[in-house]
Parts: sequence; C-alpha cells; structure tokens
Amino acid sequence: MKISSIEIYRHDLPVKNGPYKMANAEVWSLQTTLVRLTSDTGLSGWGETCPVGPTYAEAHARGAQAALQQMAPALIGVEVQPLTVVRAMNGALNGHNYAKAAIDIAIHDLLGKDLGVSAATLLGGAITEMVPSYYALGVGDPDEIARLALEKQKEGYQRLQIKLGGRPVDVDIESIRKVWQKIAGTGMRLAVDGNRGWTTRDALRVCRECPDIPFVLEQPSNRIEDLEKIRPQIQHALYMDESSVDLATVIRAAGTGLVDGFGMKVTRIGGLQQMAAFRDICEAVNLPHTCDDAWGGDIISAACTLIAATVKPSLLEGVWLAAPMIEGSYGPNEGVRIRDGHIRVPDSPGLGVEIDEIRFGAPIAAW
Ligand SMILES: [Mg+2]
Repeated sequence: MKISSIEIYRHDLPVKNGPYKMANAEVWSLQTTLVRLTSDTGLSGWGETCPVGPTYAEAHARGAQAALQQMAPALIGVEVQPLTVVRAMNGALNGHNYAKAAIDIAIHDLLGKDLGVSAATLLGGAITEMVPSYYALGVGDPDEIARLALEKQKEGYQRLQIKLGGRPVDVDIESIRKVWQKIAGTGMRLAVDGNRGWTTRDALRVCRECPDIPFVLEQPSNRIEDLEKIRPQIQHALYMDESSVDLATVIRAAGTGLVDGFGMKVTRIGGLQQMAAFRDICEAVNLPHTCDDAWGGDIISAACTLIAATVKPSLLEGVWLAAPMIEGSYGPNEGVRIRDGHIRVPDSPGLGVEIDEIRFGAPIAAW
C-alpha cells in the first residue's frame, strides 16, 4: 500500500473563553493545519499540527504549511509504513518536526484503518481504556487561579499545572502559595511551568521561597544551559518541555541526569513514531512524562491519548488536551473529550476519529 495523494487544509480554532495566557504568548485563535493522505487502495488517514501561536516554540502555522508543501511531492508513491515515511520526510527536508508530525499521525491513522486496528496497537498496544488528564491554569490573578485549582481538584483532576512568568516573580510566588493552600493534602500533584519566561535568578528564587511545596519545576528558563545552571542549586524536581526538541536532546537530558522528567508534545518530537521511541527511552531510565500537544483539535487529541494509553502508568504524568477550549468537533460525533479529569481512549481503527472534511473548506494544496 502506497501513498497516492496528499491534501493540506487550514482551519481556525478560536479559543473558547480566551485568551489562553502563557509567559511568552497570549492567544485568542489558532490556525491548525490538517493533512489527508490517501492510499492506492482508496483509504484515507488524517494528521494535524497546530503550533500555539508563533512565539511558544520555533514553529508556526504558515511554517508547517510551507514545510508540508516542500515534502509532499517526495512522499507520493512511498509505502505506508511509519519508519519508511519518517526516513522519506527526512530525505526531503531537514528539521521541521512539527510539520512531519502531521504526516506521521496520518500514516498511523491510515495503516490502522487498513489493518483494522487502533493506532495504539501499532505503537505497542494500549494497556488501559482511560488515561488521566491534567489541567493547565493560565497566567492569572493568584486568588482566581487558586479558586480554579480547587474547582479542578473537585472535578477529578489528579494533577495541575500553573503557568507563570512574564510578570514580577513575587506575583508568581503568591500564585504558587495560594494554589498550594487550596490543594495541599488532596493528593493533587503540582507542576509550575515558567514556559521559558523566567531568568535563572527568578527560577532560583521561586524554589528558595517555596521549599515546603513539592512542585515539579517545568522549563523555567529558555535554554538547556539555563537548566544546567539551575539544576544543582534546587531541591525541586526539574522537567524539560520546550527545550526537548528531538530524540538526541532527550537522550542527552535523560542520560546526563539533567532532568527528572519531561513535558512532551507529540508534534514537537516529530509525531507518533518518534513519540514511541521517546516513551521507550523514558521507561528505560524511569523518567515520568506527559503526552501532550501545544494545541490542536480532534486529531491531535486522539494522537496524544492513544500514545498515552501505551505508556507505563506509573510514568504517565497525564495528557493535556486543548479540547476544553475548542468549540465543536471535526466530525458528526463528539471527539476525544475529558470527563472528570480522565479521557476515554478511542478504540476504533486508526485514530478512531470521524472527519467531515466539508468543515475545512477546499484544500490549500494537493498532490
Ligand atoms: Mg510546559
């Protein structure tokens, strides 16, 4: 079975109750990029990539579309096999993992449908029907964030992440303290995410002033060198998110003991094939991690949930989805959704997502 046609679509996802605020970005609407691959046997598979604006990572919507158009001609006629397609993409374009991810996700959808199995089976096999989600609270007023923290705990979430940075660090510390006052003793786990926004000075101060709060410090500052500087000076666990841009970086960070875990995005690492390798590296060295994406609709939600269902449960920190902030779905039925802090794993062939392409209008490019 070979790839016989490729279509690229654009679709806007307005942020429900927006904006969504992080240290380096405030987003009101995201443009997602969708890919449909069709095989010479007449089956279709769908992929998606949706950077959360142009400043969160070295990725943006128009970059994804340009990279896909660069690669597409080289993929026509290639066998529908995940690793074969990864190599074909690498042969056509250097880097741009977040664009390659859309093709890779579509390949898993297509191959799963052809074989009549879930994409999770192709990734090693789902070991659970439900995976835990976690809730990310955007940068906001400390009292309001603390109120929401308690609300989310009562909804059934077992892990919270608070976004911080981009303002005086005193306010960030006040936020952490007020959130912890609400959730201490409930069993809720806490990550504080600077989203690269703190100087190492600020990150060190946050840790020194909150020695009693057992949070995970997630990507406090911008560079790997910043994490190396912070690492020996703190008692809190340190997670890498934005800096873990490829498997080579993950191997280095895990192998040198730089981090205690990862926030990982399916599209940043290059798709499901690369995500499965990342999962195995983490399991080999006993490091916990999330299975997320920065943003995206039903296709991304399904991809994150399916790979998460294959992760050793003790190492799965949770699955973050943009779904609560997106209106509607891509098909006739509701897509993957969070209920009581948990997500049911799709079990239909491929990604298990129904797509009604009419919603996306005409493709912006086709081969
Ligand atoms: Mg993060």
